Amino acid sequence: MKILKNNSIDKVIALAGNPNVGKSTVFNALTGLHQHTGNWPGKTVKNASGLFRYQEHFYKIYDLPGIYSILAHSEEEVVARDFICFGESDLTVIVVDACSLMRNLNLVLQITEITSNIILCVNLIDEANKKKINIDIELLKEILGIEVIATSARSGKGLEHLASAIDKYSFEPNKDVYKVQYSRHLEKAISIVEGSLKNKLKSNLNSRWVALNLLKEDNELFESIDNYLGQGFLDKEILKSISLAREYLLEKEIEITEIEDIVVERINNIAEEISNKVTSYGKKNYNKRDRLLDKILTNKITGIPIMMLLFGFIFWLTIEGANYPSSLLNKMFFSVEELLFNFCSYFLPNWFSNLLIYGVYRTLAWVVSVMLPPMMIFFPLFTLLEDLGYLPRIAFNVDKVFKKCSSCGKQALTMAMGFGCNAVGVCGARIIDSPRERLIAIITNSFVPCNGRFPTLIAIITMFFVGVNSNNSILSVAILMSVILLGILMTFIVSKLLSMTILKGIPSSFTLELPPYRRPQVGKVIIRSVLDRTIFVLGRAVTIAIPAGIVIWVLANVSYNGLSLLLHVSNFLNPFASILGMDGIILLAFILGFPANEIVMPIIIMSYMATGNLTDFTNLADLKLLLVNNGWTITTAISIMIFSLMHWPCSTTCLTIKKETKSNKWTLISILIPTLCGIIICTALNLLFKIML
Ligand code: GDP
Repeated sequence: MKILKNNSIDKVIALAGNPNVGKSTVFNALTGLHQHTGNWPGKTVKNASGLFRYQEHFYKIYDLPGIYSILAHSEEEVVARDFICFGESDLTVIVVDACSLMRNLNLVLQITEITSNIILCVNLIDEANKKKINIDIELLKEILGIEVIATSARSGKGLEHLASAIDKYSFEPNKDVYKVQYSRHLEKAISIVEGSLKNKLKSNLNSRWVALNLLKEDNELFESIDNYLGQGFLDKEILKSISLAREYLLEKEIEITEIEDIVVERINNIAEEISNKVTSYGKKNYNKRDRLLDKILTNKITGIPIMMLLFGFIFWLTIEGANYPSSLLNKMFFSVEELLFNFCSYFLPNWFSNLLIYGVYRTLAWVVSVMLPPMMIFFPLFTLLEDLGYLPRIAFNVDKVFKKCSSCGKQALTMAMGFGCNAVGVCGARIIDSPRERLIAIITNSFVPCNGRFPTLIAIITMFFVGVNSNNSILSVAILMSVILLGILMTFIVSKLLSMTILKGIPSSFTLELPPYRRPQVGKVIIRSVLDRTIFVLGRAVTIAIPAGIVIWVLANVSYNGLSLLLHVSNFLNPFASILGMDGIILLAFILGFPANEIVMPIIIMSYMATGNLTDFTNLADLKLLLVNNGWTITTAISIMIFSLMHWPCSTTCLTIKKETKSNKWTLISILIPTLCGIIICTALNLLFKIML
């Protein structure tokens, strides 16, 4: 990857490190941006970039995905490795976790092999202090030969120092950086190849590192180097030196395939050695509390019930808490509707005021009053769980079931992300290494109801199952959980079916790191979930609600052959919709809701209001009446809930699938599978109800 350096940018900085060490927190603090942070490995899946200024210099800084090594086994590792090796950044800031320095130093030592332009940021010093882990920063500096800065990025401690170090070392490369030395024979082989590389490499590519990697049989890296330096870089002289060096190694009884293991082992040993030298522990059982919590939260017997209770509680808070503000907003919006209409009629033609108020304003009012309250509650709670470090524990708990479906436990994390937004879940599937399992996670992600579909589900449950007046939120939660469990069950069934048919394969083993539990920063969590998520999702819904409101209004008010266009379309869709237990208007709402699921319910309401005689209502009881007058029964309600859970993903998700899979075929399959499931289940249920009732 090449970076285009803008004239006004003085230097390019890469931010690298293991997952979950606070890179994004450092990045956000330096750039003032809001890159997603959260307490679980794997959330940064692409390079985010931002600008920052220190005194008179401007810097472009890239937040790389978290990686454990640059030996590149997963997509994120390739992205990060290629950036460090070929990105032509001027300085790499490696962020490490002060509480697990040994593991983090592995990556540091690997990067020192590639470049000397490094500074080390030892983050999470506050946590280390709490655990009585002490790091001798000066000694570490001395051993590694690079600048080392201690920080607590979350509270901003040390960041000023870090910024000034970036400013200094971007212009003044380190001289004596620690380089790992290997056995005599491997060193000799490296020098044979290195000799043939003289004057053939770009200045910032380290010849020793290239030589070592040319010795290994790493075709992917070979290709990357070849691409970077220009095809044909591997000339006869270099190829000859490689075979000479390999022959030499074989003579010394070192197999080529062994080189990687030798390198890894050596780096591991040195990391351990350095870490032991610079770390001292004041307390032996420093992670006792985490271990105890894990014993309960990831226990075979208690793990899953606690998880269900926790989510049940979150849904309960969401439903119970959203009720009141939702009806308040609704009342507020509708109480001024008439006033607004009269106001507009003063200076606008009647039809236009009609379109504006009864088309656009009314749809907007619905979207905002139905969606905003649950989102304002659900997102912060979910973000709290994320920050606490609970999400990977979910993946751990359900890993066995996923294995049984020949897929990957990390899929649970992508599903958890799907609760917020399926497009985010699809993108998050990059944390899964195996392409086969990643595809399974992508295709099945829309079985998790995203936040755009929650309000529809909640409204229907409240009206048709709990009773609008009884307000039994526990029962609502139980029904909502059953719908979600059905989605999860479908995920398992479809994952299994896919891995038995078009995506055959055995489940890969994966290492899922359980991060330490961290106390969430409540204030930041709220700001982040409101800024990053609520505003984003609501903004999208609102921008889509405006044209949808116009379309519905036009359809309802333009007539052809004495019948409104809306009725024409709904009559056309009716026969198919009734097989599914719905009517033409509902199906039309799902079709028009392709850009955003949030607007399905408002479209249904708008359409009924436009065709029926009820024109005003401010609470769910009136709404239920409107729906019942339009022929809704419990069967209709169930069909809509199921179809809402299983139909084509929204347009943003489809685009994300296309981007992630780079394939029309898989995008189409991801659209077809949930849609077919929805059609089959709705048809079957509808038939069953017809026979039974
Ligand atoms: P990344 O995966 O390396 O980008 O890590 P993030 O920036 O997302 O941080 C991971 C978690 O650690 C988040 O919950 C942060 O709020 C938290 N965190 C980051 N830096 C610090 C720190 O210095 N001290 C503490 N206690 N927590 C931190």
